[in-house]
Amino acid sequence: MTEKRALFIIFGGSGDLAQRKLYPALYGLYYQGRLAKHFAVIGTARRPWTDDHYHDIIKQSLVGAPGSAHQKTEFAEHFYYQSHDVTDAAHYVTLRDLAEKLDKQYALDGNRVFYMAMAPRFFATIAEHVKSEQLLSAKGFNRLIVEKPFGRDFATAKQLNDDISQAFSEEQIYRIDHYLGKEMVQDIMPLRFANPLLGHAWSKDFIDNIQITLAEDIGVEERAGYYETAGALRDMVQNHIFQIIAMLTMEKPARYDAASIHAAKRAVLSAIKPYTPTQVHDKFVRGQYLGGDDIGLSYREEDNIASDSTVETYVAGRVDIDNDRWRGVPIYIRTGKRLKAKQSRIDIVFKPTSDNILPTVNDTHVAPNVLTLIIEPETGMHLTLNGKEIGTSDAVSPFTLDHALDQDELAKAPEAYQRLMLNILDGNKLTFTHWAELAASWHFIDAIRTVWDNDKADGLAFYNSGTMGPQQADDLLARDHRQWIWQGDTTK
Ligand code: NAD
Repeated sequence: MTEKRALFIIFGGSGDLAQRKLYPALYGLYYQGRLAKHFAVIGTARRPWTDDHYHDIIKQSLVGAPGSAHQKTEFAEHFYYQSHDVTDAAHYVTLRDLAEKLDKQYALDGNRVFYMAMAPRFFATIAEHVKSEQLLSAKGFNRLIVEKPFGRDFATAKQLNDDISQAFSEEQIYRIDHYLGKEMVQDIMPLRFANPLLGHAWSKDFIDNIQITLAEDIGVEERAGYYETAGALRDMVQNHIFQIIAMLTMEKPARYDAASIHAAKRAVLSAIKPYTPTQVHDKFVRGQYLGGDDIGLSYREEDNIASDSTVETYVAGRVDIDNDRWRGVPIYIRTGKRLKAKQSRIDIVFKPTSDNILPTVNDTHVAPNVLTLIIEPETGMHLTLNGKEIGTSDAVSPFTLDHALDQDELAKAPEAYQRLMLNILDGNKLTFTHWAELAASWHFIDAIRTVWDNDKADGLAFYNSGTMGPQQADDLLARDHRQWIWQGDTTK
């Protein structure tokens, strides 16, 4: 295992993301020896913290992590805090001097990772100052890490992209979609491209429909302020669901490298045409959760939510891909809060046999084969096949092959952010999104958003907390003579 060398400059070093995700992720790499002597971190934020206080914050963020107190203290000593306002140009001069000093002190080879762990409205200012105050290193790499949300529509996303592109090239920009760091999402490529059995069946000839569900059982919690300006469509569909669609439906990339994979994803996403207003009404459903005794408040009763809010906490829809491989295969998507159970999963529903000669139980149809990938909270997959009922009956009945990922191996596997950090250090952009992918998904989302914003409350379906969402989401599939495979049972 080779040790990585880099200086991390974290804008928003006192924030929630930094403390909950970034510091534990960096520590994970340190604990494994991937970061050792040659790394340093500068955290910047507004609060006037000392380095000593910052070290305490770092150690607090590692409670529960493996390793001795001594190891954690040694790790924390690589951290330096600088208090300042990111809109103040003088700040960047101090930052550059500190960066140069640490570069020499830790022999970092001029490698720099700029991590934007702050509200997106600051990104343009930071990028501009990083360039004008010469924080970019002349030797080694310069990489910019950008969190979601990347814009709130195509226009703002493009503006943001143009702004950061003043200082960083596409090659240097790493846009995070942490779903791409999840084990089962990373398993999609090997499943499709290392198993001819599945690879040959991966098209409209054999697949009837695909269902993607990202279900949460909790409500808006402490994210009310952000959620009121975003809604489920922007929060989950534009990014995570579209990335999953791309991984599931792209053509086989020419090679296993970031450029080829991005090209394949871009091609399939551009084959998803934005809907007309009529299509939006026909193919997309939005909902908002209601409350009740023992279930909690309704969305409109939550803190910091408008009492007449029309923001959707649930989205279901049908996405169509206009290319030869997928034409006519619906991709049903849904995501929501306060649903019956928490689970992220993909169900690939194959076409049932069309010329069955075998007896079936009660003369029903032979069940379709379904390949299910469970992304979380469990991690694994199952494949539903048909066999003979045990005993004297000759009837065909479905059974399931289950594969749960090894829990011990999983426990040792890096958490999503740790893997993303490692990829950043390796310059591996496989698990990051290209601007063209975001642009395509925003065009699709904008067409829906415009209709919903015009409709306001019209068409907003309310659903009871603890259910699988509004009836309209079931009707959406029923109209196509289909139904959701997953009905909220966490054992399936
Ligand atoms: P946060 O509000 O907890 O932290 C914001 C940070 O920015 C703080 O360190 C604050 O001091 C600093 N800051 C604000 N204004 C500043 C200024 N003028 N000058 C210098 N520093 C300033 O936010 P967060 O939850 O850590 O989120 C950070 C970013 O990451 C956001 O873009 C968010 O959308 C994204 N994100 C967060 C999470 C998460 O789990 N928290 C997950 C995904 C994406």
